[in-house]
Amino acid sequence: MAAEIRTFTCLNDNFGYLIHDPATKATASIDAPEAAPIIKALEREGWTLTDILVTHHHGDHVGGVAELKQKFNCRVVAPHDKSTKIANVDLRAGHGDVIKVGSLLVRVLETPGHTLDHISYVFDGEKAVFAADTLFSIGCGRVFEGTYPMMWDSLLKLRALPNDTRVYCGHEYTASNVKFALGIEPNNPALKKRAEEVAKLRAANKLTIPSLMRDEKEANVFLRADVPAVATALAMSGKTPAEVFGEIRERKNRA
Ligand SMILES: [Zn+2]
Repeated sequence: MAAEIRTFTCLNDNFGYLIHDPATKATASIDAPEAAPIIKALEREGWTLTDILVTHHHGDHVGGVAELKQKFNCRVVAPHDKSTKIANVDLRAGHGDVIKVGSLLVRVLETPGHTLDHISYVFDGEKAVFAADTLFSIGCGRVFEGTYPMMWDSLLKLRALPNDTRVYCGHEYTASNVKFALGIEPNNPALKKRAEEVAKLRAANKLTIPSLMRDEKEANVFLRADVPAVATALAMSGKTPAEVFGEIRERKNRA
């Protein structure tokens, strides 16, 4: 039986995610921006929370951990953060670790840059990645703690996942990301297609997530810093992909 994934909103623009294993009835929440909408989603499905998979220490990803831990006595999996801002951790996960949610196998990718502790969770069997604030649809997270080369390297790790991987990210920023990306690649057909799709979804008050890795590779300018046409559009021909990526990120910071 295939795993079931539920997507909903938390706080202002964070996503809440539940992934449920019908075989064992295990259910994981990816991050815990706040407890109430997660509890509501669990009740709606009749699921019990067994695990919280934390991606990084920011408050809008861990704010609900303590309350959920108390209510469900679930396992909290988190990266090896030096900030110790993530409370109630049962298991520290690092690169290459494979953990289990019920019978589902979850592979840990270290994807630092946004924060130094940021990890992403890959469910290979379900063809799904939870990339939180490293990779957004048509965007990427701000580089708060790491460097641009470090963030570029993290994006390459995600980009190496199969084309049919569904990408579940941390925030609903897609519409603003599309607007920004069109400023650099106005004639990219994949981006124009995604722009139309996102406009329709937002007009219908629907979420733009998940997207497919194939579409991100073709339309997400932050994953395309090594495409010569992108460097040319930025008058950066001959620069390294990490330098081109840094310039794109700087421009987005100012946008
Ligand atoms: Zn964050």
